[in-house]
Amino acid sequence: MFDVRGKSVIVTGGASGIGRAYAEVMADNGARVCIFDLNPTLLDSVVAELRTNGGDVWGQVVDVADRPRMKEAFDAVAERHGRIDVVFANAGIDAGPGFLSTTGGRIPEGAIDVLDDHHWDRVIEVNLSSVYTTVKHSARHMKETGGGRIIVTSSIAAQINEAIVGTPYMPAKAGVDHFVRQMAMELGMFGILVNCISPGPFMTNIAGGRLKIPADRKAFEEQSLIGRIGDTEDIKGLALYLASPCSSYVTGSQIVIDGGSMNR
Ligand code: NAD
Repeated sequence: MFDVRGKSVIVTGGASGIGRAYAEVMADNGARVCIFDLNPTLLDSVVAELRTNGGDVWGQVVDVADRPRMKEAFDAVAERHGRIDVVFANAGIDAGPGFLSTTGGRIPEGAIDVLDDHHWDRVIEVNLSSVYTTVKHSARHMKETGGGRIIVTSSIAAQINEAIVGTPYMPAKAGVDHFVRQMAMELGMFGILVNCISPGPFMTNIAGGRLKIPADRKAFEEQSLIGRIGDTEDIKGLALYLASPCSSYVTGSQIVIDGGSMNR
């Protein structure tokens, strides 16, 4: 039931953190994986490492905000694999200066009146508009082959008022949640299932890797019902579930994976 053997998979932002875990679990379970990432050095090392473990993995240097390049990269995967079955729209950047606040209070450096316009535009471009581009090219290819899975990495930031400040990040992720429901409605009749994984805090390189520093992640650990933040290993089972026949009746869902933080 959790079978993804031979599936053609794309993971955007797959050279680090959560995306890397998606790529790894897909490759370990016999899928053919193409990673899109902006960072060529990280990309080369992840591809080499996953290949060493026996994975059928390759990479393309892609900025998900670059629309012509995204079309080209999707077409290259379809050409090489013959089809596209599963796409993880995962690439994302952090919220900027206020990102690690758990107070919900006033964060002067994250305040709207001093927010850098370029920062707003880039976060919306990478975290929201690129999901549109990713879904568009996924649908174009999946319709030709009778269906597929699109799995978007959102965030619990889309659903809460506190814990993460940083103006453009939260509206971008809230937009992602709504877009996923809208696309599930539009694409269901083509056999394309569209869902969100909505993580709480995970130990990755986001926010300059600050969640890897014990003092910086303490407040997030206290927020969790099980006393720790997420490790990227924790997300693999859910990714495999959503990519596999096990989830064939799941679409338009936001599945939260946060150690219970939202329930505190
Ligand atoms: P990360 O920084 O470890 O990994 C992100 C990867 O995306 C990197 O390899 C980076 O090079 C790549 N990337 C960034 N911008 C890109 C672009 N324009 N085009 C292509 N690749 C790009 O971060 P992560 O925490 O693994 O983040 C992955 C996703 O998870 C993001 O969408 C993020 O918003 C979401 N998320 C993370 C957390 C968390 O606590 N780590 C919580 C909720 C949601």
